[in-house]
Amino acid sequence: MAQIDSLPPLSEVIRDHHLSAKKSLGQNFLLDLNLTAKIARQAGHLTGCDVLEVGPGPGGLTRGLLAEGARRVLAIEKDPRCLAPLAQIAEAYPGQLEVISGDALEVDPLAHLTPPIRVAANLPYNVGTELLVRWLTPAVWPPFWQSLTLMFQREVAERITAQPGSKAYGRLAVLSQWRSTPRIVMELAPEAFVPAPKVRSAVVHFEALEVPRFDADAQMLNRVVATAFNQRRKMLRSALKSLSPDIEDRLTAAGISPTQRAEQVSLEAFCALARVMAQS
Ligand code: SAM
Repeated sequence: MAQIDSLPPLSEVIRDHHLSAKKSLGQNFLLDLNLTAKIARQAGHLTGCDVLEVGPGPGGLTRGLLAEGARRVLAIEKDPRCLAPLAQIAEAYPGQLEVISGDALEVDPLAHLTPPIRVAANLPYNVGTELLVRWLTPAVWPPFWQSLTLMFQREVAERITAQPGSKAYGRLAVLSQWRSTPRIVMELAPEAFVPAPKVRSAVVHFEALEVPRFDADAQMLNRVVATAFNQRRKMLRSALKSLSPDIEDRLTAAGISPTQRAEQVSLEAFCALARVMAQS
């Protein structure tokens, strides 16, 4: 296999910096640089783009992004043990890698980035979904990012791309498909990671739409779908009771039968309901 850069192999980096994986930080590292370069290619044309990477760890994906021509990478990492290996990468790519030591849920990266901006990350599940929802629900659209290329557990990737009527359909599908075009672009077996997780993983690529598919307020839509799917087996008139005393009338006004269940409701109908709910 071709070498993507002149830095040491990741297995050596991990050994030399004593980076035993920490479960509490959701650490499953990718050590095959040809694979990380392949993931980086799924992020689209990187030349001329700044890339925000969350959770670079020892830097496998970071090296892939830089080798694939990213103009600059801003990497936010919570584990201080990873700072030394990341500094070595920054030395090999002068002026192209900035590392912020901290929690991505608390750091505002925007001051450090220049558009066009793409996002790429292999993140632990809980942080990944929390960040995804934030990136999909800013009050103003289009967002700061042009695309997101994110690794998830395969099951989460299926929830993001699910269609109405399926068990996987829920809040992540509605929010993702409302304002972007999510596609599963790669699947990875557990053995691709060290240590190997119990489940398969998948990379999802989202391109931001210029305009959301249907008009709705992001906060209201998020609230409506979160409440509806929280009790997905119940009829909507009961699942959404807490949102409004006249929920049956509002559902009807949005063209939704009050006896339907959340998983039968289309994205368009959820947006209509969010608009009706936003009326005082
Ligand atoms: N990107 C590396 C790779 O592909 O090998 C590491 C992936 S590992 C699944 C997740 C990384 O996210 C770890 O390096 C972990 O320390 C980091 N991390 C976990 N929670 C974080 C948070 N809240 N903010 C920033 N980084 C975080």
